[in-house]
Amino acid sequence: MRIIDKIKADGVHISFEVFPPKTDAGFESVLKATDGIAELTPSFISVTYGAGGGTSKNTVKIASHIKNDLKIPALAHLTCVSSTKEEVHKVIGQLQKEGIENILALRGDIPQDGQFPLPGQYSHACELIEDIKKMGDFCIGAACYPEGHVEMEHKKDDIRYLKEKVDCGVDFITTQMFFNNDIFYRIREQGIMIPVLPGIMPITTKKQLARSCALSGTAVPQRFRAIVDYFGDDPAAMKQAGIAYATDQIIDLIANGVRNIHVYSMNKPEVAAAIMQNLSEIVK
Ligand code: FAD
Repeated sequence: MRIIDKIKADGVHISFEVFPPKTDAGFESVLKATDGIAELTPSFISVTYGAGGGTSKNTVKIASHIKNDLKIPALAHLTCVSSTKEEVHKVIGQLQKEGIENILALRGDIPQDGQFPLPGQYSHACELIEDIKKMGDFCIGAACYPEGHVEMEHKKDDIRYLKEKVDCGVDFITTQMFFNNDIFYRIREQGIMIPVLPGIMPITTKKQLARSCALSGTAVPQRFRAIVDYFGDDPAAMKQAGIAYATDQIIDLIANGVRNIHVYSMNKPEVAAAIMQNLSEIVK
């Protein structure tokens, strides 16, 4: 099923995300986590893509398992910055062969060796979106950054490029995580006319917050900082508090008319289940 059709259907829809193993040894445990998340009947499950392309076959295999075995719509992420066009086209072909209809088209982070852009290869997500459209009838998503992308000095340039990305033919957008919903509500004022799915990350450890924010540049509001400072050294309490904070964000989003929410629970079915339990009378 095309995710855009799910998004436009009545009701509130919650989706989750998993990431593929770096090595084949971890494959079974990721499948197990994915199966646990599938039991929650999310609107879709997305599968991230290793930026270097080295784990691409696992992204395709897990997305295929979600779609063909678990019968849940799968969204396969695909990055292009560290791969040749030929390699990327090959992955698109594999997704097509597995019947995956939904791709989140991403540039990926610039490789640390600084070789960017390679001559004749991809520079930005927009070029990937155009290629995906040429290769088949996919439902295409793209990324957006409510607090601005880390590389962009001026937020208005980021919004301009986001609009360009929408004009390339994207069906929906998923945001980077944020901890202050007001930042998300401001996107609605920027004239983006396609569905924007907020990305909510339940923070369950102090280390996870530090690592995620260092990569994304996401701001931590004082209310959440105080929670992490207070509970951060007690793992069980931090997990409960992080799930409660994410639940609170989701409830606020729903109360403000948002109907599709993507949860970065990653390969933790118990975290996804706890959130759904907290929403049991809200999302039916
Ligand atoms: P782009 O849209 O190309 O934007 C990158 C930067 O270039 C931005 O600063 C933008 O403003 C600027 N820009 C865009 N177009 C132009 C232009 N024409 N001229 C000049 N500047 C331009 N990474 C992974 O490796 N794997 C994943 O699975 C993954 N999943 C993600 C899912 C979501 C929802 C999000 C928000 C991010 C994800 N990322 C993932 C991270 C992402 O790859 C990085 O943030 C990357 O640096 C940017 O990718 P993009 O697709 O947003 O790039």
